[in-house]
Amino acid sequence: PPFPVDRAGLTPMMQRYLEVKDQHPAAILFFRMGDFYELFYEDAKVAARILGLTLTSRDKNSENPVPMAGFPYHALTGYLQKMIRAGHRVAICEQVEDPKAAKGMVKREVTQIVTPGTLTDDSLLDPRETNLLAAILPGKSHSGLAWLELSTGRFICATLPASQIHDELARLQPAEVLTPERSREDLTIARIRLGAWAVTERPPWAYRPEEAHRLLLDQFGVATLEGFGFTGNSSSTTQTTIEPGIIAAGALLEYVRETQKSQLIHLSRLEPYEPTQHLLIDESTRRSLELTRTLRSNQREGSLLWAIDQTVTPMGARLLLEWLSNPLKERTAIEARLNAVSELVVDLRTTQSLQEILKTGYDIQRLTARIGTGRATPRDLVSLTRTLSLLPQIKARLAGRRSTLLNELEAKIDLHQDLREAIEAALVDEPPLNLTEGGAIRPGFDAQLDEWRDLARGGKEWMAAYQAEEVRRTGIANLKVGFNRVFGFYLECSASQADKVPPEYIRKQTLKNYERYITPALKEYEDKVLQAESRSIALEQQLFSELRQKVSSRAAELRGTAESLAVLDVLCSFAILATRRQYVRPEIASEPVLDIRQGRHPVLDQLLPTGGFVPNDIRLGGSNGLIQLITGPNMAGKSTYIRQAALLTILTQIGSFVPAESARIGLADRIFARVGASDELGRGQSTFMVEMTETARILHSATASSLVILDEIGRGTSTYDGISLAWAITEFLHDAVGCRTFFATHYHELTQLSASLKSVMNWNVAVREQNDDVVFMHQIVPGAADKSYGIHVGRLAGLPGVVLDRAREILKVLEAEQTDHLSQDPAKSRLPARKTRRSREQQLTLFELAEHPILEKIRQLDVHGMSLEAAWQELARLRSEL
Ligand code: ADP
Repeated sequence: PPFPVDRAGLTPMMQRYLEVKDQHPAAILFFRMGDFYELFYEDAKVAARILGLTLTSRDKNSENPVPMAGFPYHALTGYLQKMIRAGHRVAICEQVEDPKAAKGMVKREVTQIVTPGTLTDDSLLDPRETNLLAAILPGKSHSGLAWLELSTGRFICATLPASQIHDELARLQPAEVLTPERSREDLTIARIRLGAWAVTERPPWAYRPEEAHRLLLDQFGVATLEGFGFTGNSSSTTQTTIEPGIIAAGALLEYVRETQKSQLIHLSRLEPYEPTQHLLIDESTRRSLELTRTLRSNQREGSLLWAIDQTVTPMGARLLLEWLSNPLKERTAIEARLNAVSELVVDLRTTQSLQEILKTGYDIQRLTARIGTGRATPRDLVSLTRTLSLLPQIKARLAGRRSTLLNELEAKIDLHQDLREAIEAALVDEPPLNLTEGGAIRPGFDAQLDEWRDLARGGKEWMAAYQAEEVRRTGIANLKVGFNRVFGFYLECSASQADKVPPEYIRKQTLKNYERYITPALKEYEDKVLQAESRSIALEQQLFSELRQKVSSRAAELRGTAESLAVLDVLCSFAILATRRQYVRPEIASEPVLDIRQGRHPVLDQLLPTGGFVPNDIRLGGSNGLIQLITGPNMAGKSTYIRQAALLTILTQIGSFVPAESARIGLADRIFARVGASDELGRGQSTFMVEMTETARILHSATASSLVILDEIGRGTSTYDGISLAWAITEFLHDAVGCRTFFATHYHELTQLSASLKSVMNWNVAVREQNDDVVFMHQIVPGAADKSYGIHVGRLAGLPGVVLDRAREILKVLEAEQTDHLSQDPAKSRLPARKTRRSREQQLTLFELAEHPILEKIRQLDVHGMSLEAAWQELARLRSEL
């Protein structure tokens, strides 16, 4: 067994270690011993592997030496970070009494359990990302989902159709998900896939409805959750059932209490989440539209979020991420944001100065959370007051606005004048990092503290005076007062003078050339000084904790203020973005239309050099038909164009301006994007199966208000299969759903659909031919494409000249046979006979060919810096380019 069963022969310390380990079997135990954290047995081996610590052993000579590894206490953060990143949870066991004061073995207790979803320490968190803990309670029809950002106190729950849980998790991207123990089967029934998330199983009792509900009521100090906007969960006197979302929230709270072992004052409310108010975006759409991360490298850079983020505070950055992950659906809420942005755009100077002010503040969301969990340092409180001191200037700039939202923000920002004054009065401007050093409380704040400090500091003066007096009295010129740790203050004189020493001197130490003495007067004073020092530090700690208590009692209001600052930051960010990149305010339409003039793809527009991106009009709905079929060669710009339609709709629904000359956008209830099979390689499933499963989902769930984007559907199978499926899917969307649809395809056959389906319109990508060369204009124009230009792309990609020539030949024949293209098997057609062997001459030209562009890409790969997964994806991608 990894840990010993028979413990009789072990030292008391090791017995205590194992006792603690027994209580936390699922965690790696960091066990504090003096200045080190030690790990033993199996944990030591894990630590050696993950943390790179040297594996040694305790009692090397015994029969069963105990594996051991350790690190100095001040290196805790770094090692903690590594362990958590490697997917472990860590229990930190501290010495909870002063070793000097301890009788026998020092008392040790676990003071915190750190798990991926419960991080609060700034050094373990990315300031611009949220770190969420989620809990689910799977049910057959409805499931419960709750989530919490412990580092800010944001706590939300929802009861949702089971089938939606997966998409919600994809939206939230939690760092850790709690599920009931042994609930795999229920999860499967509810079709919740947990593959990608770190899962922690919780005992069934944590999900008992009454207890979970009670725990929440206790935490918030309320009699009912109705005040937070929940219905049907009223007090225990009425016999209503408790909804799964609330139960999940209770189970989550129970877990946080267990792991944090501290107050959670900042968890002051639970918010209901109403998915019907939001634009629904499923998991694969989210990924393929690259809203917050790119598809290929899973990075922020290159995503829509990256392109639009002009926030200046971490709070704003996190809120923007949330808004983008969760766009709105209701017109009034969207217009409210747009009105605010418009006003900030017009008054740009003020907006810029608001940003300047916001920039100098601190992350008071996370600060407040640390205050609430009792972990705030004096520096945290000083950072808080510095931020609070900015509020009057911010409020002044928000006063008298027309926009309701800006007015609301102004009203919600509370100056917290009294708190600010209390902190400023109590703390020095630059307090030390640790309270144990003393010096955090401002002189003049507390009379008793000042007195003790004077006494502690006064030591030196007193000593100098005492020394002078004794030199005069004894006539020993080289008599000196000194201090050492062993016997404190002493008097010292050279051995040759020892006979002049008065009788009341008590000899303490004889050195080679010196004698050391103590006197009663010296001892008396020493006691006073030393006591004064430790008393003053204890008093400082007490005063500080009173102050922190006072601040934490206002955690809820501080959170409100912090949230307002975050909203303001995001709105300013939208205004700045609109100005910098020439975005316009979209006009919102209630009917399903899109009328975008000179629209740009927000990300490509930034990635390409100025003027490099070719803007496009997008017209859909009304007389323009509901379904746009875009044909054209590969690499012509079809995907870019149709994604642009989705991205501009999403930007509108988060309240942002859009990159266009003008835009009229009908709100969508759902957006679906299904992209070609090649991007999905490397996910381990049959790509065609994935494609069809997702398409099936779209056909089942799209409504007349949805926006659907299909990119090269049917590519994962044989041509005729693909065309037939694409054909039937388009007919279904047209007849049964009737929603706005963009369908990019290189199957020309589909263009015939417009003849039979009245809402289907053909568009294609303008191409200019010059001599034998082809230039893609990236311009989408009405009508069907008449040529494929695939061979042209082949040439761009560096296919050998002979292959291209042969392809042109075959194409000519096939085109000539186009009479009944769909039903004809190309294998049987009268293809021109293949030419005989390549001539030597032709072979030579092979060497003159441009190098295949993929070679350069391979050269540029950072092979050593890539994860296995990334390498695999890259390989799949390169292959798809061949
Ligand atoms: P398709 O879907 O037709 O194969 P893409 O939309 O993927 O083509 O576009 C291929 C490339 O062409 C893009 O990566 C981009 O560099 C360029 N491109 C596309 N649209 C535009 C545009 N409107 N302006 C400038 N470049 C564009």
